[in-house]
Amino acid sequence: MEETCKYYNTCPILTGKIHLEENKLDEYKARFCKGEKNAWNKCIRFQVREIVGRCPLDIMPDASMSPEEVIEKYDL
Ligand code: SF4
Repeated sequence: MEETCKYYNTCPILTGKIHLEENKLDEYKARFCKGEKNAWNKCIRFQVREIVGRCPLDIMPDASMSPEEVIEKYDL
């Protein structure tokens, strides 16, 4: 069975709530959402959601901010 991030079906960047180029989306899926060895743990969106239950739409999986910086900046 293929393993994916537990937010795979609800993650707004995957459900079309924000427009991303298809190849960028495929890259994120391969690198994070369906990556091997629980690669989603490295996704900044995943980490922020784990802490506060949501993540702003414009934060990408490979954002250069730490989860703590995202939470601080967006007052989550
Ligand atoms: S972008 Fe991050 S939080 Fe969303 S499904 Fe992929 S790994 Fe999970």
